[in-house]
Amino acid sequence: MADYRANHLAGVLRQGSLGRDSAKFCETRTLGALWQNAERLAAVLNVQPGDRVVVHAEKCIEFIELYLACVLAGAIFVPLNPAYTDAEMAYFLGDAEPALLVCDRPRFEGLSNIAVKARVVTLDRLIDSALHVPGTFKLIRRNSNHIAAILYTSGTTGRSKGAMLSHKALASNAVVLAEHWRFTCEDVLIHALPVFHTHGLFVATNTALVSGASMIFQARFDPAAVVAAMPQASVLMGVPTFYTRLLGIAGLAEASKGMRLFVSGSAPLLAETFERFFDVTGHAILERYGMTETNMNTSNPYVGERRAGTVGMPLPGVEMRLRDVVDGIGGIEVRGPNVFSGYWRLPEKTGEELSADGWFVTGDLGRVDADGYVSIVGRAKDLVITGGLNVYPKEIEDVIDAIPGVVESAVIGVLHPDFGEAVVAVVVGDVSEVEVMAGCAAVLAKFKQPKRVILADELPRNLMGKVQKKALRQELKGLFDSPTPRARS
Ligand code: AMP
Repeated sequence: MADYRANHLAGVLRQGSLGRDSAKFCETRTLGALWQNAERLAAVLNVQPGDRVVVHAEKCIEFIELYLACVLAGAIFVPLNPAYTDAEMAYFLGDAEPALLVCDRPRFEGLSNIAVKARVVTLDRLIDSALHVPGTFKLIRRNSNHIAAILYTSGTTGRSKGAMLSHKALASNAVVLAEHWRFTCEDVLIHALPVFHTHGLFVATNTALVSGASMIFQARFDPAAVVAAMPQASVLMGVPTFYTRLLGIAGLAEASKGMRLFVSGSAPLLAETFERFFDVTGHAILERYGMTETNMNTSNPYVGERRAGTVGMPLPGVEMRLRDVVDGIGGIEVRGPNVFSGYWRLPEKTGEELSADGWFVTGDLGRVDADGYVSIVGRAKDLVITGGLNVYPKEIEDVIDAIPGVVESAVIGVLHPDFGEAVVAVVVGDVSEVEVMAGCAAVLAKFKQPKRVILADELPRNLMGKVQKKALRQELKGLFDSPTPRARS
Protein backbone atom coordinates (compact mmCIF):
# COMPACT_ATOMS: atom_id res chain seq x y z
CA MET A 1 0.00 0.00 0.00
CA ALA A 2 2.99 2.32 0.37
CA ASP A 3 3.14 3.38 -3.29
CA TYR A 4 -0.59 3.73 -3.47
CA ARG A 5 -0.39 6.13 -0.58
CA ALA A 6 2.52 8.19 -1.71
CA ASN A 7 1.18 8.65 -5.18
CA HIS A 8 -2.13 10.12 -4.24
CA LEU A 9 -1.72 13.17 -2.17
CA ALA A 10 -3.38 15.47 -4.67
CA GLY A 11 -6.95 16.38 -5.20
CA VAL A 12 -9.82 17.49 -3.10
CA LEU A 13 -12.54 15.51 -1.47
CA ARG A 14 -15.59 17.59 -0.86
CA GLN A 15 -18.44 16.72 1.40
CA GLY A 16 -21.71 18.07 0.05
CA SER A 17 -24.62 18.60 2.44
CA LEU A 18 -23.28 16.19 5.03
CA GLY A 19 -21.66 17.22 8.26
CA ARG A 20 -21.34 15.17 11.40
CA ASP A 21 -22.45 17.56 14.11
CA SER A 22 -19.39 16.90 16.25
CA ALA A 23 -16.94 16.32 13.42
CA LYS A 24 -13.69 18.06 14.20
CA PHE A 25 -12.14 17.37 10.83
CA CYS A 26 -12.88 20.00 8.20
CA GLU A 27 -15.53 19.31 5.62
CA THR A 28 -13.33 19.75 2.60
CA ARG A 29 -9.98 18.09 2.49
CA THR A 30 -7.14 17.28 0.22
CA LEU A 31 -6.33 13.65 -0.21
CA GLY A 32 -3.22 14.38 1.84
CA ALA A 33 -5.40 15.45 4.77
CA LEU A 34 -7.62 12.43 4.21
CA TRP A 35 -4.64 10.12 4.60
CA GLN A 36 -3.36 12.03 7.59
CA ASN A 37 -6.70 11.64 9.32
CA ALA A 38 -6.65 7.95 8.39
CA GLU A 39 -3.24 7.60 10.02
CA ARG A 40 -4.50 9.26 13.19
CA LEU A 41 -7.50 6.97 13.29
CA ALA A 42 -5.27 3.94 12.67
CA ALA A 43 -3.25 4.96 15.73
CA VAL A 44 -6.31 4.79 18.00
CA LEU A 45 -7.98 1.66 16.61
CA ASN A 46 -6.07 -0.60 18.98
CA VAL A 47 -6.53 -3.72 16.89
CA GLN A 48 -4.27 -6.53 15.77
CA PRO A 49 -3.63 -7.41 12.11
CA GLY A 50 -6.47 -9.62 10.90
CA ASP A 51 -8.95 -8.33 13.50
CA ARG A 52 -12.34 -7.45 12.12
CA VAL A 53 -13.59 -3.89 12.51
CA VAL A 54 -17.33 -3.69 11.95
CA VAL A 55 -18.59 -0.26 10.95
CA HIS A 56 -22.25 0.59 11.25
CA ALA A 57 -22.44 4.29 10.48
CA GLU A 58 -24.09 6.74 8.12
CA LYS A 59 -22.16 7.87 5.07
CA CYS A 60 -19.59 10.59 5.74
CA ILE A 61 -15.98 11.32 4.79
CA GLU A 62 -14.82 9.93 8.13
CA PHE A 63 -16.26 6.58 7.07
CA ILE A 64 -13.72 6.51 4.22
CA GLU A 65 -10.96 7.62 6.58
CA LEU A 66 -11.86 4.75 8.87
CA TYR A 67 -11.71 2.33 5.94
CA LEU A 68 -8.23 3.59 5.07
CA ALA A 69 -7.25 3.45 8.75
CA CYS A 70 -8.15 -0.25 8.82
CA VAL A 71 -6.03 -0.82 5.71
CA LEU A 72 -3.08 0.95 7.37
CA ALA A 73 -3.52 -1.04 10.60
CA GLY A 74 -3.82 -4.37 8.79
CA ALA A 75 -7.35 -4.89 10.11
CA ILE A 76 -10.26 -6.30 8.12
CA PHE A 77 -12.88 -3.67 7.34
CA VAL A 78 -16.48 -4.92 7.63
CA PRO A 79 -18.99 -2.21 6.64
CA LEU A 80 -22.67 -2.88 7.28
CA ASN A 81 -25.80 -1.14 6.11
CA PRO A 82 -26.70 1.45 8.78
CA ALA A 83 -30.36 0.61 8.16
CA TYR A 84 -29.86 -2.78 9.82
CA THR A 85 -31.84 -3.18 13.01
CA ASP A 86 -30.26 -4.40 16.24
CA ALA A 87 -31.82 -7.81 15.59
CA GLU A 88 -30.14 -8.00 12.19
CA MET A 89 -26.86 -6.75 13.62
CA ALA A 90 -26.82 -9.57 16.16
CA TYR A 91 -26.30 -12.07 13.34
CA PHE A 92 -23.46 -10.14 11.71
CA LEU A 93 -21.66 -9.52 14.99
CA GLY A 94 -21.93 -13.18 15.92
CA ASP A 95 -20.55 -14.20 12.54
CA ALA A 96 -17.78 -11.64 12.05
CA GLU A 97 -16.66 -11.67 15.69
CA PRO A 98 -15.13 -8.20 15.46
CA ALA A 99 -12.59 -6.89 17.92
CA LEU A 100 -14.08 -3.44 17.42
CA LEU A 101 -17.51 -2.12 16.46
CA VAL A 102 -17.74 1.51 15.38
CA CYS A 103 -21.23 3.00 15.24
CA ASP A 104 -23.14 6.27 15.29
CA ARG A 105 -24.19 7.74 18.62
CA PRO A 106 -27.93 6.99 18.41
CA ARG A 107 -27.18 3.28 18.01
CA PHE A 108 -24.48 3.02 20.66
CA GLU A 109 -26.61 1.73 23.53
CA GLY A 110 -28.57 -0.85 21.57
CA LEU A 111 -25.49 -2.20 19.80
CA SER A 112 -23.41 -2.25 23.00
CA ASN A 113 -25.96 -4.65 24.48
CA ILE A 114 -25.56 -7.00 21.52
CA ALA A 115 -21.85 -6.75 20.86
CA VAL A 116 -20.79 -8.44 24.05
CA LYS A 117 -17.42 -9.62 22.76
CA ALA A 118 -16.37 -6.48 20.87
CA ARG A 119 -15.19 -3.10 22.02
CA VAL A 120 -17.87 -0.63 20.97
CA VAL A 121 -17.09 2.99 20.23
CA THR A 122 -18.92 5.77 18.43
CA LEU A 123 -17.32 7.22 15.35
CA ASP A 124 -17.38 10.66 16.96
CA ARG A 125 -15.51 9.37 19.99
CA LEU A 126 -12.91 7.71 17.79
CA ILE A 127 -12.46 10.94 15.84
CA ASP A 128 -12.07 12.89 19.09
CA SER A 129 -9.34 10.62 20.38
CA ALA A 130 -7.63 10.64 16.97
CA LEU A 131 -7.25 14.41 17.20
CA HIS A 132 -4.75 13.99 20.02
CA VAL A 133 -2.29 11.75 18.22
CA PRO A 134 0.37 12.77 15.70
CA GLY A 135 -0.52 12.36 12.05
CA THR A 136 1.99 9.62 11.36
CA PHE A 137 1.45 5.91 11.73
CA LYS A 138 3.78 3.04 11.02
CA LEU A 139 2.02 1.05 8.31
CA ILE A 140 1.34 -2.57 9.28
CA ARG A 141 2.57 -4.51 6.26
CA ARG A 142 0.25 -7.13 4.82
CA ASN A 143 0.82 -9.17 1.69
CA SER A 144 -1.49 -9.02 -1.31
CA ASN A 145 -3.35 -12.19 -0.32
CA HIS A 146 -4.24 -10.93 3.14
CA ILE A 147 -7.88 -9.99 3.58
CA ALA A 148 -8.61 -6.26 3.44
CA ALA A 149 -12.39 -6.38 3.80
CA ILE A 150 -15.36 -8.63 4.33
CA LEU A 151 -18.56 -7.60 2.59
CA TYR A 152 -21.69 -9.48 3.46
CA THR A 153 -23.69 -10.95 0.65
CA SER A 154 -26.15 -13.80 0.60
CA GLY A 155 -27.14 -16.91 -1.26
CA THR A 156 -30.25 -18.83 -2.16
CA THR A 157 -30.56 -20.04 1.41
CA GLY A 158 -30.97 -16.41 2.45
CA ARG A 159 -28.19 -16.59 5.02
CA SER A 160 -25.75 -13.72 4.67
CA LYS A 161 -22.23 -14.81 3.86
CA GLY A 162 -19.10 -12.75 4.35
CA ALA A 163 -17.15 -12.40 1.11
CA MET A 164 -13.44 -12.12 1.95
CA LEU A 165 -11.69 -9.63 -0.33
CA SER A 166 -7.92 -9.54 -0.49
CA HIS A 167 -5.76 -6.47 -1.02
CA LYS A 168 -4.90 -7.93 -4.44
CA ALA A 169 -8.58 -8.24 -5.44
CA LEU A 170 -9.38 -4.65 -4.46
CA ALA A 171 -6.18 -3.02 -5.74
CA SER A 172 -6.12 -4.86 -9.09
CA ASN A 173 -9.74 -4.00 -9.84
CA ALA A 174 -9.29 -0.33 -8.91
CA VAL A 175 -6.26 -0.01 -11.21
CA VAL A 176 -8.01 -1.81 -14.09
CA LEU A 177 -11.15 0.33 -13.78
CA ALA A 178 -9.16 3.57 -13.52
CA GLU A 179 -7.34 2.70 -16.74
CA HIS A 180 -10.37 1.33 -18.56
CA TRP A 181 -12.50 4.35 -17.75
CA ARG A 182 -9.60 6.79 -18.32
CA PHE A 183 -9.56 8.28 -14.83
CA THR A 184 -7.00 11.02 -14.11
CA CYS A 185 -6.32 13.39 -11.23
CA GLU A 186 -8.35 15.96 -13.18
CA ASP A 187 -11.53 13.97 -12.63
CA VAL A 188 -14.23 14.89 -10.16
CA LEU A 189 -16.56 12.03 -9.29
CA ILE A 190 -20.04 12.66 -7.94
CA HIS A 191 -20.31 10.08 -5.18
CA ALA A 192 -23.96 9.53 -4.23
CA LEU A 193 -23.83 5.75 -3.62
CA PRO A 194 -23.93 4.01 -0.24
CA VAL A 195 -20.48 3.17 1.12
CA PHE A 196 -21.26 -0.20 2.72
CA HIS A 197 -21.60 -1.86 -0.71
CA THR A 198 -18.99 -2.84 -3.29
CA HIS A 199 -20.24 -0.21 -5.77
CA GLY A 200 -19.83 2.87 -3.55
CA LEU A 201 -16.88 1.66 -1.49
CA PHE A 202 -14.68 -0.09 -4.00
CA VAL A 203 -15.80 0.69 -7.57
CA ALA A 204 -16.31 4.38 -6.90
CA THR A 205 -14.00 5.28 -3.99
CA ASN A 206 -11.01 3.06 -4.79
CA THR A 207 -11.05 4.00 -8.47
CA ALA A 208 -11.05 7.70 -7.58
CA LEU A 209 -8.35 7.24 -4.93
CA VAL A 210 -5.91 5.35 -7.15
CA SER A 211 -6.32 8.07 -9.79
CA GLY A 212 -5.83 10.96 -7.39
CA ALA A 213 -9.26 12.15 -8.56
CA SER A 214 -11.56 14.29 -6.46
CA MET A 215 -14.95 13.29 -5.15
CA ILE A 216 -18.04 15.29 -4.33
CA PHE A 217 -19.40 13.21 -1.51
CA GLN A 218 -23.16 13.32 -1.12
CA ALA A 219 -24.93 11.74 1.85
CA ARG A 220 -27.53 10.03 -0.28
CA PHE A 221 -28.85 10.07 -3.79
CA ASP A 222 -30.88 13.21 -4.37
CA PRO A 223 -31.36 13.68 -8.13
CA ALA A 224 -31.57 17.47 -7.91
CA ALA A 225 -28.34 17.64 -5.87
CA VAL A 226 -26.58 15.38 -8.39
CA VAL A 227 -27.65 17.58 -11.30
CA ALA A 228 -26.58 20.67 -9.34
CA ALA A 229 -23.10 19.14 -8.83
CA MET A 230 -22.59 18.24 -12.50
CA PRO A 231 -21.09 21.57 -13.64
CA GLN A 232 -18.20 21.03 -11.17
CA ALA A 233 -17.84 17.31 -11.93
CA SER A 234 -16.76 14.94 -14.69
CA VAL A 235 -18.00 11.43 -13.74
CA LEU A 236 -21.09 9.91 -12.15
CA MET A 237 -21.40 6.29 -11.04
CA GLY A 238 -24.88 5.06 -10.29
CA VAL A 239 -27.40 2.27 -10.20
CA PRO A 240 -30.09 2.29 -12.92
CA THR A 241 -32.58 3.98 -10.56
CA PHE A 242 -30.28 7.05 -10.51
CA TYR A 243 -30.67 7.45 -14.24
CA THR A 244 -34.45 7.05 -14.36
CA ARG A 245 -34.75 9.66 -11.61
CA LEU A 246 -32.23 12.05 -13.17
CA LEU A 247 -34.35 12.06 -16.32
CA GLY A 248 -37.10 13.70 -14.26
CA ILE A 249 -34.94 16.71 -13.34
CA ALA A 250 -35.22 19.87 -15.42
CA GLY A 251 -31.81 21.23 -16.38
CA LEU A 252 -30.16 17.80 -16.76
CA ALA A 253 -29.27 18.42 -20.41
CA GLU A 254 -27.54 21.74 -19.68
CA ALA A 255 -25.84 20.61 -16.45
CA SER A 256 -24.42 17.42 -17.98
CA LYS A 257 -22.72 19.15 -20.93
CA GLY A 258 -19.25 19.15 -19.36
CA MET A 259 -19.49 15.64 -17.91
CA ARG A 260 -17.10 13.03 -19.27
CA LEU A 261 -18.64 9.73 -18.20
CA PHE A 262 -21.79 8.16 -16.75
CA VAL A 263 -21.40 4.60 -15.42
CA SER A 264 -24.23 2.25 -14.44
CA GLY A 265 -24.21 -1.09 -12.66
CA SER A 266 -25.44 -3.30 -9.79
CA ALA A 267 -28.68 -4.07 -11.66
CA PRO A 268 -29.83 -4.19 -15.28
CA LEU A 269 -30.10 -0.84 -17.04
CA LEU A 270 -33.13 -0.89 -19.28
CA ALA A 271 -32.33 -0.19 -22.93
CA GLU A 272 -35.15 2.35 -22.80
CA THR A 273 -33.37 4.29 -20.01
CA PHE A 274 -30.08 4.16 -21.95
CA GLU A 275 -31.81 5.59 -25.03
CA ARG A 276 -33.80 8.27 -23.22
CA PHE A 277 -30.66 9.41 -21.38
CA PHE A 278 -28.79 9.60 -24.68
CA ASP A 279 -31.62 11.60 -26.29
CA VAL A 280 -31.69 14.11 -23.45
CA THR A 281 -27.96 14.49 -22.69
CA GLY A 282 -26.05 13.12 -25.68
CA HIS A 283 -24.19 10.79 -23.26
CA ALA A 284 -24.17 7.00 -23.76
CA ILE A 285 -24.26 5.46 -20.28
CA LEU A 286 -21.42 2.96 -19.83
CA GLU A 287 -22.82 -0.21 -18.25
CA ARG A 288 -20.61 -2.63 -16.34
CA TYR A 289 -21.21 -5.86 -14.45
CA GLY A 290 -19.81 -7.19 -11.22
CA MET A 291 -20.67 -8.45 -7.80
CA THR A 292 -19.53 -8.39 -4.19
CA GLU A 293 -17.53 -11.60 -4.58
CA THR A 294 -15.72 -10.65 -7.77
CA ASN A 295 -15.52 -6.87 -7.91
CA MET A 296 -16.05 -5.82 -11.54
CA ASN A 297 -15.98 -8.44 -14.30
CA THR A 298 -17.07 -6.76 -17.51
CA SER A 299 -17.47 -3.27 -18.88
CA ASN A 300 -18.66 -1.64 -22.04
CA PRO A 301 -15.81 0.08 -23.89
CA TYR A 302 -14.73 3.63 -23.14
CA VAL A 303 -13.96 4.18 -26.81
CA GLY A 304 -16.25 2.31 -29.18
CA GLU A 305 -19.87 1.28 -29.03
CA ARG A 306 -21.55 1.15 -25.63
CA ARG A 307 -24.26 -1.34 -26.46
CA ALA A 308 -27.60 -0.93 -24.66
CA GLY A 309 -28.81 -4.04 -22.85
CA THR A 310 -25.27 -5.44 -22.57
CA VAL A 311 -22.56 -5.22 -19.92
CA GLY A 312 -19.69 -5.14 -22.43
CA MET A 313 -16.68 -7.45 -22.44
CA PRO A 314 -14.52 -9.02 -19.72
CA LEU A 315 -12.11 -6.46 -18.21
CA PRO A 316 -8.36 -6.92 -18.77
CA GLY A 317 -7.12 -9.80 -16.61
CA VAL A 318 -10.61 -11.24 -16.07
CA GLU A 319 -11.50 -14.56 -17.71
CA MET A 320 -15.13 -15.47 -18.27
CA ARG A 321 -16.86 -18.64 -19.47
CA LEU A 322 -20.42 -19.92 -19.80
CA ARG A 323 -21.39 -23.26 -18.29
CA ASP A 324 -24.18 -25.61 -19.42
CA VAL A 325 -25.13 -23.49 -22.41
CA VAL A 326 -28.67 -23.93 -23.73
CA ASP A 327 -29.83 -21.76 -26.64
CA GLY A 328 -26.73 -19.60 -26.20
CA ILE A 329 -27.46 -18.94 -22.52
CA GLY A 330 -25.29 -20.37 -19.76
CA GLY A 331 -24.16 -19.89 -16.19
CA ILE A 332 -21.48 -17.19 -15.94
CA GLU A 333 -18.19 -18.18 -14.32
CA VAL A 334 -15.24 -15.83 -13.81
CA ARG A 335 -11.61 -16.09 -12.84
CA GLY A 336 -8.97 -13.45 -12.17
CA PRO A 337 -7.16 -11.40 -9.54
CA ASN A 338 -10.44 -9.59 -8.88
CA VAL A 339 -12.14 -12.70 -7.47
CA PHE A 340 -12.64 -13.02 -3.69
CA SER A 341 -10.79 -15.48 -1.44
CA GLY A 342 -13.83 -17.39 -0.20
CA TYR A 343 -16.68 -17.01 2.26
CA TRP A 344 -15.76 -16.17 5.84
CA ARG A 345 -15.74 -19.35 7.92
CA LEU A 346 -17.79 -21.25 5.30
CA PRO A 347 -15.28 -23.57 3.60
CA GLU A 348 -17.98 -25.88 2.23
CA LYS A 349 -19.96 -23.06 0.64
CA THR A 350 -16.70 -21.66 -0.75
CA GLY A 351 -15.92 -25.07 -2.24
CA GLU A 352 -19.29 -25.19 -3.99
CA GLU A 353 -18.88 -21.83 -5.72
CA LEU A 354 -15.14 -21.29 -6.04
CA SER A 355 -13.18 -24.08 -7.68
CA ALA A 356 -9.63 -25.00 -6.71
CA ASP A 357 -8.39 -23.54 -10.01
CA GLY A 358 -10.01 -20.18 -9.32
CA TRP A 359 -13.28 -20.22 -11.28
CA PHE A 360 -16.20 -18.61 -9.46
CA VAL A 361 -19.80 -19.60 -10.21
CA THR A 362 -21.56 -16.22 -10.25
CA GLY A 363 -25.11 -17.56 -10.20
CA ASP A 364 -25.96 -15.24 -13.10
CA LEU A 365 -27.11 -16.44 -16.48
CA GLY A 366 -25.72 -14.78 -19.56
CA ARG A 367 -24.99 -14.90 -23.25
CA VAL A 368 -22.30 -13.46 -25.49
CA ASP A 369 -23.13 -11.92 -28.87
CA ALA A 370 -21.10 -12.25 -32.05
CA ASP A 371 -19.08 -9.12 -31.19
CA GLY A 372 -18.20 -10.36 -27.72
CA TYR A 373 -20.68 -8.22 -25.76
CA VAL A 374 -22.04 -10.04 -22.71
CA SER A 375 -25.70 -9.78 -21.66
CA ILE A 376 -27.05 -10.80 -18.26
CA VAL A 377 -30.33 -12.58 -18.90
CA GLY A 378 -31.35 -13.55 -15.41
CA ARG A 379 -30.25 -14.54 -11.97
CA ALA A 380 -30.04 -18.15 -11.12
CA LYS A 381 -30.66 -17.12 -7.58
CA ASP A 382 -33.96 -15.46 -6.86
CA LEU A 383 -32.30 -12.34 -5.58
CA VAL A 384 -34.38 -9.15 -5.73
CA ILE A 385 -32.48 -5.95 -6.51
CA THR A 386 -34.43 -2.90 -5.43
CA GLY A 387 -32.90 0.54 -5.94
CA GLY A 388 -29.52 -1.19 -6.35
CA LEU A 389 -29.75 -3.03 -3.01
CA ASN A 390 -30.06 -6.77 -2.71
CA VAL A 391 -32.95 -8.39 -0.93
CA TYR A 392 -32.93 -12.13 -0.37
CA PRO A 393 -36.49 -13.49 -0.52
CA LYS A 394 -35.88 -16.27 1.99
CA GLU A 395 -35.05 -13.81 4.76
CA ILE A 396 -38.30 -11.88 4.21
CA GLU A 397 -40.32 -15.09 3.86
CA ASP A 398 -38.99 -16.32 7.22
CA VAL A 399 -40.14 -13.09 8.89
CA ILE A 400 -43.57 -13.22 7.27
CA ASP A 401 -44.08 -16.91 8.02
CA ALA A 402 -43.53 -16.18 11.72
CA ILE A 403 -46.44 -13.68 11.79
CA PRO A 404 -49.53 -15.20 13.51
CA GLY A 405 -52.11 -16.39 10.97
CA VAL A 406 -49.65 -16.76 8.06
CA VAL A 407 -49.59 -20.19 6.41
CA GLU A 408 -46.86 -19.54 3.86
CA SER A 409 -45.39 -16.82 1.70
CA ALA A 410 -43.35 -16.20 -1.42
CA VAL A 411 -41.33 -13.04 -1.93
CA ILE A 412 -40.47 -11.94 -5.44
CA GLY A 413 -39.16 -8.91 -7.30
CA VAL A 414 -41.66 -7.13 -9.52
CA LEU A 415 -40.67 -4.63 -12.18
CA HIS A 416 -40.96 -1.12 -10.77
CA PRO A 417 -40.55 2.12 -12.75
CA ASP A 418 -38.46 3.74 -10.00
CA PHE A 419 -36.70 1.02 -8.02
CA GLY A 420 -36.01 -1.33 -10.92
CA GLU A 421 -37.57 -4.08 -8.88
CA ALA A 422 -39.84 -3.80 -5.86
CA VAL A 423 -40.15 -6.40 -3.10
CA VAL A 424 -43.61 -8.01 -3.26
CA ALA A 425 -44.90 -10.65 -0.85
CA VAL A 426 -47.58 -13.15 -1.81
CA VAL A 427 -49.07 -14.45 1.42
CA VAL A 428 -51.44 -17.30 2.22
CA GLY A 429 -53.28 -17.28 5.55
CA ASP A 430 -55.77 -15.58 7.80
CA VAL A 431 -53.99 -12.25 8.05
CA SER A 432 -54.34 -8.73 6.66
CA GLU A 433 -51.98 -6.77 4.44
CA VAL A 434 -51.52 -4.26 7.31
CA GLU A 435 -50.53 -7.00 9.76
CA VAL A 436 -47.93 -8.40 7.36
CA MET A 437 -46.51 -4.93 6.73
CA ALA A 438 -46.33 -4.21 10.48
CA GLY A 439 -44.65 -7.56 11.17
CA CYS A 440 -41.99 -6.80 8.57
CA ALA A 441 -41.46 -3.20 9.72
CA ALA A 442 -40.69 -4.45 13.24
CA VAL A 443 -37.61 -6.42 12.25
CA LEU A 444 -36.51 -5.56 8.72
CA ALA A 445 -34.65 -2.59 7.29
CA LYS A 446 -36.95 -0.38 5.22
CA PHE A 447 -35.52 -1.38 1.84
CA LYS A 448 -36.31 -5.04 2.55
CA GLN A 449 -39.92 -4.48 3.56
CA PRO A 450 -42.45 -5.42 0.86
CA LYS A 451 -43.79 -2.54 -1.19
CA ARG A 452 -46.97 -4.58 -1.63
CA VAL A 453 -48.51 -7.59 0.05
CA ILE A 454 -50.84 -9.70 -2.07
CA LEU A 455 -53.09 -12.13 -0.21
CA ALA A 456 -53.74 -15.37 -2.07
CA ASP A 457 -55.61 -18.62 -1.48
CA GLU A 458 -52.61 -20.73 -2.46
CA LEU A 459 -49.13 -20.52 -4.00
CA PRO A 460 -48.53 -21.99 -7.45
CA ARG A 461 -46.41 -25.18 -7.18
CA ASN A 462 -44.87 -27.62 -9.61
CA LEU A 463 -45.08 -31.41 -9.40
CA MET A 464 -42.10 -31.53 -7.08
CA GLY A 465 -43.85 -29.18 -4.67
CA LYS A 466 -41.58 -26.20 -5.47
CA VAL A 467 -43.21 -22.76 -5.46
CA GLN A 468 -43.27 -21.37 -9.00
CA LYS A 469 -41.92 -17.88 -8.50
CA LYS A 470 -41.63 -17.42 -12.22
CA ALA A 471 -45.39 -17.79 -12.54
CA LEU A 472 -45.94 -15.30 -9.74
CA ARG A 473 -43.62 -12.79 -11.38
CA GLN A 474 -45.47 -13.23 -14.63
CA GLU A 475 -48.88 -12.76 -12.96
CA LEU A 476 -47.82 -9.68 -11.02
CA LYS A 477 -45.55 -8.06 -13.58
CA GLY A 478 -47.93 -5.12 -14.19
CA LEU A 479 -48.56 -4.54 -10.47
CA PHE A 480 -46.90 -1.14 -10.41
CA ASP A 481 -48.44 -0.04 -13.68
CA SER A 482 -52.05 -0.28 -12.52
CA PRO A 483 -53.35 1.86 -9.65
CA THR A 484 -55.19 -0.92 -7.75
CA PRO A 485 -53.97 -4.51 -7.84
CA ARG A 486 -56.36 -7.27 -6.86
CA ALA A 487 -55.81 -7.85 -3.19
CA ARG A 488 -57.86 -9.39 -0.44
CA SER A 489 -57.53 -7.77 2.98
P1 AMP B 1 -23.92 -7.35 -5.58
O1 AMP B 1 -23.15 -8.49 -5.03
O2 AMP B 1 -24.78 -6.68 -4.58
O3 AMP B 1 -23.06 -6.38 -6.28
O4 AMP B 1 -24.93 -7.95 -6.65
C1 AMP B 1 -24.41 -8.64 -7.72
C2 AMP B 1 -25.47 -9.01 -8.68
O5 AMP B 1 -26.05 -7.87 -9.28
C3 AMP B 1 -24.88 -9.79 -9.85
O6 AMP B 1 -24.66 -11.13 -9.55
C4 AMP B 1 -25.92 -9.56 -10.91
O7 AMP B 1 -27.00 -10.46 -10.75
C5 AMP B 1 -26.40 -8.15 -10.62
N1 AMP B 1 -25.79 -7.15 -11.50
C6 AMP B 1 -24.72 -6.37 -11.27
N2 AMP B 1 -24.48 -5.56 -12.32
C7 AMP B 1 -25.42 -5.86 -13.24
C8 AMP B 1 -25.72 -5.36 -14.55
N3 AMP B 1 -25.03 -4.38 -15.12
N4 AMP B 1 -26.77 -5.92 -15.21
C9 AMP B 1 -27.49 -6.90 -14.66
N5 AMP B 1 -27.28 -7.40 -13.43
C10 AMP B 1 -26.26 -6.87 -12.73
